Amino acid sequence: MKTIHYEKELKVKLRRYKRILDTLNPEQQEILRESIETIELNLAKEKIQDTDSLEDALINEYDNLKEFESFWPIIEGFTDVGEDEDSDRYPYPDIDMSNKEILTLTYDFFKNGTSKYFFSLFEQLFKQRRKIHFVNSSVPGFYGDTLFLNYDKSFYVQIGRLYEFNDIVVMAHEYGHGIQYLINYNRNIFYGLFPFSEVVSIFFELICGEYYTKDLSLGNKARISLYDNWNTTCKDAQALNQEIQIFKSSKIKRDESTEKKKRRLWTFIENSDYNKLVDLIMQNPSSDFSYILAYSIATNLFMIYLRDPDYAFYLLKKLIEIDLNLSSETYLQEIIKLGIIPNEGLEEFDRHLNRELKRL
Ligand SMILES: [Zn+2]
Repeated sequence: MKTIHYEKELKVKLRRYKRILDTLNPEQQEILRESIETIELNLAKEKIQDTDSLEDALINEYDNLKEFESFWPIIEGFTDVGEDEDSDRYPYPDIDMSNKEILTLTYDFFKNGTSKYFFSLFEQLFKQRRKIHFVNSSVPGFYGDTLFLNYDKSFYVQIGRLYEFNDIVVMAHEYGHGIQYLINYNRNIFYGLFPFSEVVSIFFELICGEYYTKDLSLGNKARISLYDNWNTTCKDAQALNQEIQIFKSSKIKRDESTEKKKRRLWTFIENSDYNKLVDLIMQNPSSDFSYILAYSIATNLFMIYLRDPDYAFYLLKKLIEIDLNLSSETYLQEIIKLGIIPNEGLEEFDRHLNRELKRL
């Protein structure tokens, strides 16, 4: 289970918020109430459920994905790219950098690798850098996360340090979230628009990696990191696609009873390689859904960025400003209207990263 390292600060903040709540006007009260709820939700933290059977685990996975069935075809299209399943994993070069150095490099990227507009937003968040918690990550798959309180634009970050180049791009990723929240904050991004919650942060992550490929001492580390994250995402997409195919072929339906669902899945499990299926479900593929979708969209914007950075930043601002009260389907249509098309950048992106690898 994940730990929140800023728990103490949050509790202090919560007490302070509750003290001032009555002193505010109704409009401010509403914003503050929402921030209070955000803290309370984070302090409560949902417990990981222990599921006892494979059907239960699969139903759990299905429940995580069923709301967003209309985006399943994007995941199916994504997996076509990862052709070399067992491509070599490059060793992750260690990087002996202090937390302060990681911050300095992140600052350098936002200053010189983004636009004036995005740098000025970054600076607002950077002032709060004391709220960043660097932790020695022992939880596999945990890189970092953020908490934003819209009432006073508080921005909490925790980074699981792996002492790899990746620590820098994780920082850029988390600041990407913060920048998005500063421009357009609406909690619907965690609910109805959840599939799109990682697009902006993944874009910043990618261009931060790209920025450091130009650096004399960090260049190779940046190339490997970009490639490795991409490789992992392709594999995750394959796993998620396999799961989607299970749901499709077992003809499980959203509104039928759990018993009925279990029976359908059981029929499927009976005819499958049980151990392989367990391996797949243990990976919890649904948890990668928003990241894969983010790559699907951000890679297209990334290719635009390589050709014309200013235009890419213009599009990024437009993308962030899209109304966050829209339905997820309409939201995607708005992205497409900007000329950013899911899955369209994948092959080009793959070629780009492979070319970069040849420079190692
Ligand atoms: Zn993120």
